[in-house]
Amino acid sequence: MTQDPKDWRPQTRMVRGGMARSPYGEISEALYLTQSFAYDSAAAADRRFSGEDPGFIYQRFGNPTTQMFEDRLALLEGAEMCRATASGMSAVHVALQGLVRAGDHVVAGRALFGSCRWILSQWMPRFGVDVTFVDATDPAAWADAIRPNTRAFLVESPANPLLEVTPIAEVAALARQAGARLVVDNVFATPVFQKPLELGADIVVYSATKHIDGQGRVLGGAILGGAELMGEAYRDILRHTGPALSPFNSWVLLKGLETLDLRVRRQADNAVRVTEALCSHTAVRRTVFPGRPDHPQANLIARQMTGPGNVVAFDLGTRERAWAFLDALGIVDISNNLGDAKSMATHPSTTTHRSMSESERLEIGLTEGWVRMSVGLEDAEDLAEDVLQALDKV
Ligand SMILES: *Cc1c(COP(=O)(O)O)cnc(C)c1O
Repeated sequence: MTQDPKDWRPQTRMVRGGMARSPYGEISEALYLTQSFAYDSAAAADRRFSGEDPGFIYQRFGNPTTQMFEDRLALLEGAEMCRATASGMSAVHVALQGLVRAGDHVVAGRALFGSCRWILSQWMPRFGVDVTFVDATDPAAWADAIRPNTRAFLVESPANPLLEVTPIAEVAALARQAGARLVVDNVFATPVFQKPLELGADIVVYSATKHIDGQGRVLGGAILGGAELMGEAYRDILRHTGPALSPFNSWVLLKGLETLDLRVRRQADNAVRVTEALCSHTAVRRTVFPGRPDHPQANLIARQMTGPGNVVAFDLGTRERAWAFLDALGIVDISNNLGDAKSMATHPSTTTHRSMSESERLEIGLTEGWVRMSVGLEDAEDLAEDVLQALDKV
Protein backbone atom coordinates (compact mmCIF):
# COMPACT_ATOMS: atom_id res chain seq x y z
CA MET A 1 0.00 0.00 0.00
CA THR A 2 1.38 3.40 -0.86
CA GLN A 3 0.60 6.12 1.60
CA ASP A 4 0.54 9.87 1.25
CA PRO A 5 3.16 11.24 3.67
CA LYS A 6 0.86 14.23 4.18
CA ASP A 7 -1.44 11.86 6.11
CA TRP A 8 1.37 11.00 8.52
CA ARG A 9 1.65 12.55 11.95
CA PRO A 10 4.68 14.77 12.62
CA GLN A 11 6.98 12.17 14.19
CA THR A 12 6.49 9.81 11.23
CA ARG A 13 7.20 12.67 8.83
CA MET A 14 10.45 13.40 10.67
CA VAL A 15 11.67 9.82 10.37
CA ARG A 16 10.39 8.85 6.91
CA GLY A 17 9.41 12.01 5.05
CA GLY A 18 11.20 12.66 1.77
CA MET A 19 12.85 9.22 1.65
CA ALA A 20 13.85 8.47 -1.96
CA ARG A 21 15.30 4.96 -2.00
CA SER A 22 17.75 3.91 -4.65
CA PRO A 23 17.32 0.50 -6.35
CA TYR A 24 19.50 -0.97 -3.57
CA GLY A 25 16.73 -0.52 -1.03
CA GLU A 26 18.93 1.10 1.62
CA ILE A 27 17.29 1.85 4.99
CA SER A 28 19.48 4.83 5.85
CA GLU A 29 19.23 7.57 3.24
CA ALA A 30 21.96 7.53 0.59
CA LEU A 31 24.61 10.24 0.47
CA TYR A 32 24.93 11.30 -3.19
CA LEU A 33 28.28 13.03 -3.18
CA THR A 34 28.19 14.06 -6.83
CA GLN A 35 28.52 17.41 -8.54
CA SER A 36 26.88 16.57 -11.84
CA PHE A 37 24.68 13.98 -13.52
CA ALA A 38 24.93 12.09 -16.83
CA TYR A 39 22.14 12.13 -19.42
CA ASP A 40 21.14 9.17 -21.60
CA SER A 41 21.32 11.25 -24.77
CA ALA A 42 21.82 14.77 -26.04
CA ALA A 43 18.05 15.05 -26.37
CA ALA A 44 17.67 13.96 -22.72
CA ALA A 45 20.07 16.73 -21.65
CA ASP A 46 18.00 19.19 -23.67
CA ARG A 47 14.80 18.07 -21.90
CA ARG A 48 16.49 18.31 -18.50
CA PHE A 49 17.65 21.88 -19.15
CA SER A 50 14.30 22.97 -20.61
CA GLY A 51 12.58 21.79 -17.42
CA GLU A 52 10.42 19.29 -19.31
CA ASP A 53 12.20 16.46 -17.48
CA PRO A 54 12.56 17.40 -13.79
CA GLY A 55 15.76 15.44 -13.01
CA PHE A 56 18.99 16.72 -11.51
CA ILE A 57 21.55 18.81 -13.43
CA TYR A 58 24.21 20.15 -11.11
CA GLN A 59 24.77 20.29 -7.35
CA ARG A 60 24.31 24.06 -7.24
CA PHE A 61 20.73 23.55 -8.55
CA GLY A 62 19.80 20.44 -6.60
CA ASN A 63 20.96 17.05 -5.35
CA PRO A 64 19.07 13.89 -4.34
CA THR A 65 20.31 13.90 -0.73
CA THR A 66 19.65 17.61 -0.38
CA GLN A 67 16.20 17.10 -1.85
CA MET A 68 15.42 14.41 0.72
CA PHE A 69 16.31 16.91 3.44
CA GLU A 70 14.21 19.62 1.77
CA ASP A 71 11.20 17.34 1.33
CA ARG A 72 11.38 16.05 4.90
CA LEU A 73 11.59 19.53 6.39
CA ALA A 74 8.78 20.80 4.11
CA LEU A 75 6.52 17.98 5.30
CA LEU A 76 7.33 18.75 8.90
CA GLU A 77 6.72 22.49 8.47
CA GLY A 78 3.55 21.98 6.41
CA ALA A 79 5.13 23.98 3.55
CA GLU A 80 4.64 23.28 -0.15
CA MET A 81 8.34 23.79 -0.80
CA CYS A 82 11.67 23.95 1.00
CA ARG A 83 15.04 25.04 -0.38
CA ALA A 84 18.15 24.24 1.61
CA THR A 85 21.02 26.70 1.88
CA ALA A 86 24.61 26.53 3.10
CA SER A 87 23.91 28.34 6.38
CA GLY A 88 21.16 30.08 8.28
CA MET A 89 22.56 33.41 7.15
CA SER A 90 22.43 32.48 3.46
CA ALA A 91 18.77 31.51 4.06
CA VAL A 92 17.96 34.88 5.64
CA HIS A 93 19.92 36.78 2.99
CA VAL A 94 18.29 35.03 0.03
CA ALA A 95 14.86 35.12 1.69
CA LEU A 96 15.06 38.93 1.85
CA GLN A 97 16.97 39.67 -1.37
CA GLY A 98 14.52 37.60 -3.40
CA LEU A 99 11.63 39.80 -2.28
CA VAL A 100 13.04 43.29 -2.88
CA ARG A 101 14.72 45.51 -5.43
CA ALA A 102 16.25 49.00 -5.33
CA GLY A 103 13.73 51.53 -4.09
CA ASP A 104 11.85 49.05 -1.88
CA HIS A 105 11.43 49.19 1.88
CA VAL A 106 11.70 46.49 4.57
CA VAL A 107 10.38 46.54 8.13
CA ALA A 108 12.17 44.37 10.68
CA GLY A 109 12.01 43.62 14.37
CA ARG A 110 14.83 45.45 16.14
CA ALA A 111 15.84 42.45 18.27
CA LEU A 112 17.52 40.19 15.74
CA PHE A 113 20.45 37.82 15.45
CA GLY A 114 23.52 40.06 14.91
CA SER A 115 24.24 39.07 11.29
CA CYS A 116 20.58 39.49 10.32
CA ARG A 117 20.76 42.99 11.70
CA TRP A 118 23.93 43.66 9.71
CA ILE A 119 22.28 42.54 6.45
CA LEU A 120 19.44 44.95 7.08
CA SER A 121 21.30 47.93 8.49
CA GLN A 122 24.57 47.76 6.50
CA TRP A 123 24.13 45.60 3.42
CA MET A 124 20.69 46.14 1.92
CA PRO A 125 20.92 49.98 2.02
CA ARG A 126 23.93 49.69 -0.32
CA PHE A 127 21.53 48.44 -2.96
CA GLY A 128 18.92 51.10 -2.40
CA VAL A 129 16.69 49.19 0.01
CA ASP A 130 15.52 51.18 3.04
CA VAL A 131 14.96 49.44 6.36
CA THR A 132 12.95 50.47 9.42
CA PHE A 133 13.48 48.65 12.73
CA VAL A 134 10.50 48.38 15.06
CA ASP A 135 9.57 47.00 18.46
CA ALA A 136 8.43 43.65 17.09
CA THR A 137 6.11 42.92 20.00
CA ASP A 138 3.83 45.86 19.08
CA PRO A 139 1.54 45.53 16.02
CA ALA A 140 0.98 49.31 16.03
CA ALA A 141 4.72 49.84 15.49
CA TRP A 142 4.61 47.57 12.42
CA ALA A 143 1.55 49.39 11.10
CA ASP A 144 3.21 52.80 11.57
CA ALA A 145 6.35 51.73 9.72
CA ILE A 146 4.54 50.68 6.53
CA ARG A 147 5.22 52.78 3.42
CA PRO A 148 3.78 52.46 -0.08
CA ASN A 149 7.01 50.68 -1.14
CA THR A 150 7.17 48.21 1.79
CA ARG A 151 7.74 44.76 0.31
CA ALA A 152 8.95 42.61 3.20
CA PHE A 153 8.70 42.18 6.97
CA LEU A 154 11.33 40.18 8.87
CA VAL A 155 10.83 38.98 12.41
CA GLU A 156 12.47 36.55 14.76
CA SER A 157 10.11 35.11 17.38
CA PRO A 158 11.08 34.37 20.09
CA ALA A 159 13.87 36.86 19.47
CA ASN A 160 17.52 36.61 20.34
CA PRO A 161 18.64 37.13 23.08
CA LEU A 162 15.81 38.32 25.36
CA LEU A 163 13.07 36.07 23.98
CA GLU A 164 10.43 38.65 23.15
CA VAL A 165 7.56 37.27 21.14
CA THR A 166 5.79 38.77 18.12
CA PRO A 167 2.05 38.26 17.52
CA ILE A 168 2.68 36.53 14.19
CA ALA A 169 -0.96 36.33 13.02
CA GLU A 170 -1.53 40.05 13.59
CA VAL A 171 1.70 41.09 11.92
CA ALA A 172 0.98 38.72 9.01
CA ALA A 173 -2.39 40.42 8.51
CA LEU A 174 -0.68 43.84 8.42
CA ALA A 175 1.84 42.58 5.88
CA ARG A 176 -0.92 41.20 3.69
CA GLN A 177 -2.83 44.51 3.75
CA ALA A 178 0.37 46.34 2.81
CA GLY A 179 1.18 43.97 -0.06
CA ALA A 180 4.35 42.88 1.74
CA ARG A 181 5.61 39.37 2.56
CA LEU A 182 6.23 38.27 6.12
CA VAL A 183 9.43 36.29 6.69
CA VAL A 184 9.73 34.57 10.08
CA ASP A 185 13.08 33.36 11.44
CA ASN A 186 11.78 30.41 13.47
CA VAL A 187 15.07 29.17 14.91
CA PHE A 188 14.33 29.70 18.60
CA ALA A 189 10.87 28.10 18.41
CA THR A 190 12.00 25.20 16.15
CA PRO A 191 9.64 23.42 13.73
CA VAL A 192 8.43 21.40 16.73
CA PHE A 193 6.94 24.27 18.75
CA GLN A 194 5.74 26.91 16.25
CA LYS A 195 4.23 26.86 12.75
CA PRO A 196 4.49 30.39 11.32
CA LEU A 197 2.92 29.43 7.97
CA GLU A 198 -0.26 28.34 9.77
CA LEU A 199 -0.25 31.70 11.55
CA GLY A 200 -0.18 33.53 8.20
CA ALA A 201 3.55 34.04 7.48
CA ASP A 202 4.62 33.77 3.84
CA ILE A 203 8.15 32.47 4.37
CA VAL A 204 9.90 30.63 7.20
CA VAL A 205 13.69 30.51 7.53
CA TYR A 206 15.89 28.28 9.66
CA SER A 207 19.46 28.05 10.66
CA ALA A 208 19.57 24.23 10.50
CA THR A 209 22.92 24.60 12.26
CA LYS A 210 20.99 24.86 15.50
CA HIS A 211 18.41 22.28 16.64
CA ILE A 212 18.04 20.49 13.29
CA ASP A 213 21.65 19.36 13.43
CA GLY A 214 21.51 19.59 17.20
CA GLN A 215 24.88 17.92 17.70
CA GLY A 216 27.26 20.71 16.80
CA ARG A 217 28.56 19.38 13.48
CA VAL A 218 27.56 21.26 10.32
CA LEU A 219 26.16 24.56 9.09
CA GLY A 220 22.95 24.63 7.12
CA GLY A 221 19.86 26.66 6.44
CA ALA A 222 16.43 26.43 4.87
CA ILE A 223 13.76 28.63 3.30
CA LEU A 224 10.17 27.35 3.26
CA GLY A 225 6.91 28.61 1.82
CA GLY A 226 4.32 28.24 -0.93
CA ALA A 227 5.56 26.78 -4.22
CA GLU A 228 4.56 29.74 -6.37
CA LEU A 229 6.24 32.40 -4.24
CA MET A 230 9.31 30.21 -3.65
CA GLY A 231 9.69 29.65 -7.39
CA GLU A 232 9.27 33.29 -8.35
CA ALA A 233 11.35 34.78 -5.58
CA TYR A 234 14.13 32.27 -5.05
CA ARG A 235 14.64 29.77 -7.88
CA ASP A 236 16.96 31.90 -9.96
CA ILE A 237 18.85 33.60 -7.14
CA LEU A 238 19.62 30.19 -5.62
CA ARG A 239 20.78 28.76 -8.96
CA HIS A 240 22.95 31.67 -9.98
CA THR A 241 24.44 32.96 -6.72
CA GLY A 242 25.28 29.51 -5.35
CA PRO A 243 24.48 29.26 -1.62
CA ALA A 244 23.84 25.51 -2.09
CA LEU A 245 23.97 23.17 0.90
CA SER A 246 26.58 20.43 0.52
CA PRO A 247 25.08 16.92 0.14
CA PHE A 248 27.18 15.78 3.08
CA ASN A 249 25.70 18.47 5.31
CA SER A 250 22.25 17.67 3.90
CA TRP A 251 22.72 14.06 4.93
CA VAL A 252 23.76 15.01 8.47
CA LEU A 253 20.76 17.33 8.77
CA LEU A 254 18.38 14.74 7.28
CA LYS A 255 19.44 12.32 10.01
CA GLY A 256 19.13 15.15 12.54
CA LEU A 257 15.46 15.56 11.65
CA GLU A 258 14.77 11.94 12.67
CA THR A 259 15.47 12.76 16.31
CA LEU A 260 14.48 16.45 16.30
CA ASP A 261 11.19 16.03 18.15
CA LEU A 262 12.70 13.83 20.87
CA ARG A 263 15.68 16.12 21.38
CA VAL A 264 13.80 19.41 21.39
CA ARG A 265 11.17 18.17 23.84
CA ARG A 266 13.81 16.83 26.22
CA GLN A 267 15.79 20.06 25.92
CA ALA A 268 12.65 22.05 26.72
CA ASP A 269 11.99 19.87 29.80
CA ASN A 270 15.57 20.42 30.92
CA ALA A 271 15.20 24.16 30.33
CA VAL A 272 12.15 24.18 32.62
CA ARG A 273 14.27 22.57 35.36
CA VAL A 274 17.20 24.97 34.83
CA THR A 275 14.82 27.92 34.90
CA GLU A 276 13.40 26.74 38.24
CA ALA A 277 16.94 26.67 39.63
CA LEU A 278 17.65 30.17 38.29
CA CYS A 279 14.44 31.55 39.78
CA SER A 280 15.23 30.02 43.18
CA HIS A 281 18.54 31.88 43.52
CA THR A 282 18.86 35.41 44.90
CA ALA A 283 21.77 36.28 42.55
CA VAL A 284 19.35 36.30 39.59
CA ARG A 285 17.47 39.57 39.15
CA ARG A 286 15.22 38.47 36.35
CA THR A 287 14.69 35.33 34.28
CA VAL A 288 12.98 35.28 30.89
CA PHE A 289 11.80 31.94 29.56
CA PRO A 290 8.85 31.39 27.19
CA GLY A 291 7.66 28.49 29.37
CA ARG A 292 7.08 30.60 32.48
CA PRO A 293 3.81 32.26 33.47
CA ASP A 294 5.77 35.43 34.34
CA HIS A 295 6.99 35.90 30.75
CA PRO A 296 5.49 39.30 29.79
CA GLN A 297 3.74 37.68 26.82
CA ALA A 298 2.70 34.39 28.39
CA ASN A 299 -0.82 34.58 26.91
CA LEU A 300 0.45 35.12 23.39
CA ILE A 301 2.96 32.29 23.82
CA ALA A 302 0.16 29.97 24.89
CA ARG A 303 -1.74 30.90 21.71
CA GLN A 304 1.02 30.60 19.13
CA MET A 305 3.60 28.16 20.50
CA THR A 306 3.12 24.57 21.63
CA GLY A 307 6.29 24.49 23.74
CA PRO A 308 8.82 26.87 25.26
CA GLY A 309 12.04 26.07 23.38
CA ASN A 310 15.33 25.50 25.16
CA VAL A 311 16.79 29.01 25.53
CA VAL A 312 16.59 30.97 28.76
CA ALA A 313 17.92 34.49 29.45
CA PHE A 314 18.68 35.87 32.89
CA ASP A 315 20.01 39.09 34.34
CA LEU A 316 22.78 38.98 36.93
CA GLY A 317 23.04 42.76 37.21
CA THR A 318 26.53 43.57 35.95
CA ARG A 319 29.10 42.34 33.48
CA GLU A 320 31.41 41.26 36.34
CA ARG A 321 28.71 39.09 37.85
CA ALA A 322 27.72 37.62 34.46
CA TRP A 323 31.34 36.76 33.68
CA ALA A 324 31.91 35.33 37.17
CA PHE A 325 28.91 33.05 36.60
CA LEU A 326 30.18 31.87 33.19
CA ASP A 327 33.69 31.28 34.52
CA ALA A 328 32.36 29.22 37.44
CA LEU A 329 30.35 26.78 35.28
CA GLY A 330 31.67 23.22 35.46
CA ILE A 331 29.52 21.32 32.92
CA VAL A 332 27.90 24.01 30.79
CA ASP A 333 30.28 25.41 28.16
CA ILE A 334 30.85 29.08 27.45
CA SER A 335 29.81 29.26 23.80
CA ASN A 336 27.61 31.37 21.56
CA ASN A 337 25.89 28.52 19.70
CA LEU A 338 22.47 27.16 20.59
CA GLY A 339 20.26 24.13 20.09
CA ASP A 340 23.14 21.72 20.72
CA ALA A 341 22.98 18.52 22.79
CA LYS A 342 25.60 20.19 24.99
CA SER A 343 24.41 23.05 27.16
CA MET A 344 26.11 26.36 26.59
CA ALA A 345 25.89 29.86 27.95
CA THR A 346 27.04 33.18 26.56
CA HIS A 347 27.28 36.86 27.47
CA PRO A 348 25.40 38.44 24.54
CA SER A 349 26.55 42.03 24.95
CA THR A 350 30.24 41.08 24.48
CA THR A 351 29.71 38.24 21.97
CA THR A 352 26.65 37.72 19.77
CA HIS A 353 25.38 41.29 20.09
CA ARG A 354 28.66 43.20 20.35
CA SER A 355 28.29 44.69 16.86
CA MET A 356 25.23 46.64 18.05
CA SER A 357 25.91 50.07 19.54
CA GLU A 358 25.28 50.48 23.23
CA SER A 359 22.17 52.55 22.57
CA GLU A 360 20.82 49.88 20.21
CA ARG A 361 21.43 47.29 22.90
CA LEU A 362 19.65 49.38 25.50
CA GLU A 363 16.72 49.81 23.11
CA ILE A 364 16.14 46.05 23.25
CA GLY A 365 16.81 45.92 27.00
CA LEU A 366 20.15 44.15 26.66
CA THR A 367 22.23 45.43 29.55
CA GLU A 368 25.58 43.91 30.54
CA GLY A 369 24.20 41.64 33.25
CA TRP A 370 22.33 39.34 30.84
CA VAL A 371 23.37 35.75 30.19
CA ARG A 372 21.75 33.55 27.55
CA MET A 373 21.78 29.81 28.02
CA SER A 374 20.90 27.07 25.52
CA VAL A 375 19.90 24.04 27.55
CA GLY A 376 21.07 20.70 26.18
CA LEU A 377 20.46 17.02 26.72
CA GLU A 378 22.55 16.36 29.82
CA ASP A 379 20.79 15.19 33.01
CA ALA A 380 18.55 18.03 34.21
CA GLU A 381 19.70 17.66 37.83
CA ASP A 382 23.36 17.91 36.84
CA LEU A 383 22.56 21.09 34.93
CA ALA A 384 20.54 22.58 37.80
CA GLU A 385 23.37 21.79 40.25
CA ASP A 386 25.97 23.31 37.93
CA VAL A 387 23.96 26.50 37.50
CA LEU A 388 23.30 26.79 41.26
CA GLN A 389 26.96 26.31 42.24
CA ALA A 390 28.03 28.91 39.65
CA LEU A 391 25.40 31.36 40.93
CA ASP A 392 26.78 30.86 44.46
CA LYS A 393 30.13 32.21 43.19
CA VAL A 394 28.54 35.37 41.74
C1 LIG B 1 22.29 31.15 14.24
C2 LIG B 1 21.17 31.95 13.73
C3 LIG B 1 21.17 32.44 12.43
C4 LIG B 1 22.33 32.21 11.47
O1 LIG B 1 22.55 30.87 11.21
P1 LIG B 1 23.96 30.26 10.71
O2 LIG B 1 23.60 28.85 10.41
O3 LIG B 1 24.91 30.45 11.83
O4 LIG B 1 24.36 31.03 9.50
C5 LIG B 1 20.09 33.19 12.02
N1 LIG B 1 19.06 33.44 12.85
C6 LIG B 1 19.03 32.99 14.12
C7 LIG B 1 17.88 33.29 14.99
C8 LIG B 1 20.09 32.23 14.61
O5 LIG B 1 20.06 31.78 15.87
